[in-house]
Amino acid sequence: MSMSYADGFDVDAPLIELDEIRKTFITGGGVAVEALRGVSMSIRAGEFVAIMGASGSGKSTLMNILGCLDRPTSGAYRFAGREVSALDADQLAWLRREAFGFVFQSYNLLASATAEENVEIPAVYAGLDVDTRKERAIELLTLLGVGERVHHRPSQLSGGQQQRVSIARALMNGGQVILADEPTGALDSKSGAEVIQLLENLAAQGHTVILITHDAKVAAHAHRVIEIRDGEIVADSGARADAPVHRVTLSDSANDSPSLFSGLNESLGMATRALKANFFRTILTLLGIVIGVGSVVAMLAIGEGAKQRVVDQIGSMGTNLIVVRPLRGRDATVNATLMPEDAEAIAQLPNVMSSMPDVTGEQTVRYGNVDYRPEDIIATTTDLPFTRSWPVAQGAFFTEQDMEDYAPVAVLGDIVYETLFPGGEDPVGQYILIANVPFQVIGVMSPKGAMSAAQDADDVVFVPLTTGMMRIFGQRHLGSITVAVSDISVMDDTQNAILDLLKARHDGAESFRIRNMADLLETATTAQNTLTTLLAAVAAISLLVGGIGIMNIMLVSVTERTREIGIRMATGARQRDILQQFLSEALMVSAIGGVVGVIGGVAVGVTVEAFGTPILFTATPMILAFACAAATGLVFGYAPARKAARLDPVVALANE
Ligand code: ADP
Ligand code: MG
Repeated sequence: MSMSYADGFDVDAPLIELDEIRKTFITGGGVAVEALRGVSMSIRAGEFVAIMGASGSGKSTLMNILGCLDRPTSGAYRFAGREVSALDADQLAWLRREAFGFVFQSYNLLASATAEENVEIPAVYAGLDVDTRKERAIELLTLLGVGERVHHRPSQLSGGQQQRVSIARALMNGGQVILADEPTGALDSKSGAEVIQLLENLAAQGHTVILITHDAKVAAHAHRVIEIRDGEIVADSGARADAPVHRVTLSDSANDSPSLFSGLNESLGMATRALKANFFRTILTLLGIVIGVGSVVAMLAIGEGAKQRVVDQIGSMGTNLIVVRPLRGRDATVNATLMPEDAEAIAQLPNVMSSMPDVTGEQTVRYGNVDYRPEDIIATTTDLPFTRSWPVAQGAFFTEQDMEDYAPVAVLGDIVYETLFPGGEDPVGQYILIANVPFQVIGVMSPKGAMSAAQDADDVVFVPLTTGMMRIFGQRHLGSITVAVSDISVMDDTQNAILDLLKARHDGAESFRIRNMADLLETATTAQNTLTTLLAAVAAISLLVGGIGIMNIMLVSVTERTREIGIRMATGARQRDILQQFLSEALMVSAIGGVVGVIGGVAVGVTVEAFGTPILFTATPMILAFACAAATGLVFGYAPARKAARLDPVVALANE
């Protein structure tokens, strides 16, 4: 760093020089209050000075200006020869860390931190490593007589003990200048006397001690008494002639900010403590993020699962298939009928691999004393195993000869086989009744799987088209024709050729509906994608709501912890330390929420899957949702964190 913070200070100049310092407060009602009216004084390093005056005389105002917590309205303040008004916020924070230690009437300890942690705070901002500062904090506490209480929180300590802790904190970074504002004001006389004794000892060791009090007996312990009344100095006993000469040391090392990692580590530690201190509230805030992230993960898995299943189903039926059906009812210009001859004609078209007619209906099937009603009895041709890529598992499919002979033979779907032959006996050769007509079972299909929640491909019995038409359905027209094409890229041409052919064969009537599986696949995928997007949008909104929750809770937290922020600033925290701390808290909540949310989302997905809904987990939504949560924390945490960082230390400290 080319510019050093210690530049421009002269340790041989008087430590503190005030020249005509004035401070005017404008009250809420717009009334100007002159708290200091031209204070001039000079204090040398190593002096033990009491500033004495009645309540309201301006003592605290003066102390805040001396400690660089507040700026005067006018007048000059030189610290070690350097005009303080020329320093920026970071330099003032450095000077507070480097030179000052504050002791307040109300102790100003952080309630959520232990004695030791309270003492460590100034060293955190000075960038001291963890072990050294722990050691030093315990050493100081022991020295001040509270070594037994290092792990106690302020609420578990007496007033005298708390004030000792705060003196230890003032000494943590050296405490060359101790500013004590009514340090005995809240203590019983015995504890008060002990605290004064401690300050006397510090003065004897060379610390500059500025003791502020309204009590003449307390002031009498100092080596010099400056009396203040109505914002003006009315008496000054002057520096002791025999006072030894001291110098402050202002080192640049304390200007080194902690490394980003240790700084981050530090603020994460503090964040953990702060979040634990408000455990229930933290949980509620977390919940918002957890629900947001969890629903993104679960919703997308459900959406993807549904899409995958539709794609699989359609794919399993074959993407090279075209299904032709006659139009019925309102949609049809004429109630046309598809005939077996139509299928034969279609088979002659170019690019047509097979043209498979069928008639489908529902009938009861009986074997022995078991009655069963499969979803479909399908009368079709020998092409089926080929057209639908569906091999036979046992026995054989029927042949052209069976078709010609009107043979009463049947091939069972896997479900029908398992229902009629629960014992697993060989069905081939057995006789079953379909619509009370005896059929001989000649084969069983391999399992094909579910086509949709309501339909199962295996819940089916196949019979020859000829036999089925005559003996089961008693009709001459077809239900549909399934056409397999060899080249999918010219599927549309083939489709048009089929339509033209049928139109020609049926007196020009537009009475057939053609669907091809590839189109169906595309439509279904688009529909499912829309669904997935919709689900994701709903989930994203809940993530947004979670983010607003973080912002809300952070704003409350900043307001609640204004005093804590003031204490941190008084002990040398820079604005960016405060910013980093609050951002860390927001980030931590959102990151924990993100992790728990991902786990929760997966758990919901797995549970839903256990109930039969297909689920497809992919990494992208998980990573995305987690990243969104973390980003949400940063984005929504930034405004509150900045608000905290920009607080005026003296205003923050005055906050009750
Ligand atoms: P002391 O510490 O000696 O009791 P203070 O320095 O606190 O006195 O206050 C000196 C005068 O300034 C008092 O009249 C007080 O009401 C006024 N004062 C102090 N701080 C503020 C403020 N922030 N706004 C308005 N008036 C203030
Ligand atoms: Mg006061």
